[in-house]
Amino acid sequence: MSAPDLSGPIDSHCHLQSLPPEERERALDAARERGVKGFLVPAIKLDEAEEILAFCHRHPDVWCSLGTHPHDASSWKEGDGERLRSLLADPKAVAVGECGLDFYYDHSPRETQLQVLREQWALAVELGLPVVVHNRDSNEEMLEVVREEAFRDLQADFHSFAGGLDMARELIARGFYLGFTGMITFPKADNVREVIPILPPGRCLVETDTPYLAPVPHRGKPNRPAFVVEIAERLARETGETYEQVCRRTGENFFRLFKKAG
Ligand SMILES: [Zn+2]
Repeated sequence: MSAPDLSGPIDSHCHLQSLPPEERERALDAARERGVKGFLVPAIKLDEAEEILAFCHRHPDVWCSLGTHPHDASSWKEGDGERLRSLLADPKAVAVGECGLDFYYDHSPRETQLQVLREQWALAVELGLPVVVHNRDSNEEMLEVVREEAFRDLQADFHSFAGGLDMARELIARGFYLGFTGMITFPKADNVREVIPILPPGRCLVETDTPYLAPVPHRGKPNRPAFVVEIAERLARETGETYEQVCRRTGENFFRLFKKAG
């Protein structure tokens, strides 16, 4: 395998499966035209895994994570752990997720969210795969799980991180990665930008979270992977690096964490 091209950013979190099929291809092409070099599509439930895998197999620069989102934790049923294990054998499945806790929306009961989170993390540790984590209004409970002995070797991307400095410090100390979305371009999002100075260069990822959270100047429009360019540009402005340096560094981080993509 030749070394990956890191001259442009990698969108480490885009829900392309939520777009109509013809729009998915257009969104990829538009991003490639702006120099975007790779895409990770996170599943939100197991029922869409096969479709996402088939999509990834048509595109050498697209990978996925497979798992069940906290919103859909109630859909997790007996045997889903085994089902997920066999889906993860696919070379295009580079992580477990999107998984996590969301006590803001509470779409699934909290106890169910916690149980489904633990089951997926245990599988990730066993298989040596990283997890893609969603965490909203659940810092304390998330840290309790993170500190469990069973997850000592967990590798994780806390995507769209907005959990504050204390949370960031503990996640960084545990070797985890944090993902930045278009929120870093929002005028009022100082709570997201405040983490940038304490984040080691080797732990930072960029992502759009398509179709949500479009960055300035596209705010209010549906988000697309092409807009990861504005996110990497803003990150460069914040750190004092060049755009090219941010692309190289976050790209190296991507392939270090998501080893199966390398
Ligand atoms: Zn997501």
